[in-house]
Amino acid sequence: MTARIIDGKAVAEALRAGLAARIARLNFRPGLRVVRVGDDPASGVYVRNKDRAAAAAGFDSATIQLPAETRESDLLMLIADLNIDPAVDGILVQLPLPPQIRPDMVIAAIDPEKDVDGFHPVNAGRLATQQPGLVPCTPKGVMHLLRAAGTALAGARAVVLGRSQIVGRPMLQLLLAADCTVTVVHSRTRDLPAECRRAEILVAAVGRAELVRGDWIAAGATIIDVGINRDAAGKLVGDVAFAEALPHAGAITPVPGGVGPMTIACLLENTLEAALARRGVAEA
Ligand code: NDP
Repeated sequence: MTARIIDGKAVAEALRAGLAARIARLNFRPGLRVVRVGDDPASGVYVRNKDRAAAAAGFDSATIQLPAETRESDLLMLIADLNIDPAVDGILVQLPLPPQIRPDMVIAAIDPEKDVDGFHPVNAGRLATQQPGLVPCTPKGVMHLLRAAGTALAGARAVVLGRSQIVGRPMLQLLLAADCTVTVVHSRTRDLPAECRRAEILVAAVGRAELVRGDWIAAGATIIDVGINRDAAGKLVGDVAFAEALPHAGAITPVPGGVGPMTIACLLENTLEAALARRGVAEA
């Protein structure tokens, strides 16, 4: 038996088409502003893809490019302006930021109702206390993929590899809310392979090329690989040794073409949700 491949590109395309159809029925265009400080080349591709996807789905989207030497106080002033701009529904400040700017200060300055990255402590708190709010895009995308793959969630043993603020922790909350039995493992976990072998659902978000080996995977498990790494030959690989995993897993996401495309689609979904909530619009 070889694992079914979960096609993130197709799931993301369907999600974006659904958003475009919903926006076409509105009498306004949800506004998204992406703020970029400096020109980190990796985030450049990402920002351009965001702009293209946003425009194609009918969003009013723009990127505000600031010089690398921008002062923190100037960035905070820009965010204050975007917070009160009625045409802006979503604000995203592209990370990483240059060293003179503290990311925590910037995230905390964004109006939580416009925080489409879902990183503001208010939104993290809402997620942890089961209140409606904006949810971080990557873990939200993972939930879409699990549902699209038809994975049974209620009662399933899920293991999340990694405990970061942007992936691991919100992933724990979302899987818990979907009634999974969740274990979170990290760099201090004693026996990583043994913990992973218990997983019916394994979400890997560690940033270590092919850390998860084939014999860490229980027969038939659903594997979601969030990792984006380069191997020794410079090839893009995930946190899971894909070829080794295939004969063990029931379903698996590839890298690239798995979780990656979902992140932008979920950013757009968050922007639409923020717009509807903030403007008090109920969809027909
Ligand atoms: P972080 O570096 O913030 O967190 C990594 C986590 O993995 C930490 O909790 C760390 O443990 C744990 N970890 C690291 N090494 C090991 C190890 N050898 N054994 C066990 N646990 C380990 O990363 P992110 O969460 O930001 O990102 C994770 C990966 O996902 C990266 O490859 C990143 O590029 C990718 N990513 C992909 C996205 C997408 O759109 N597809 C979006 C966001 C991220 P500890 O806490 O103990 O240090």
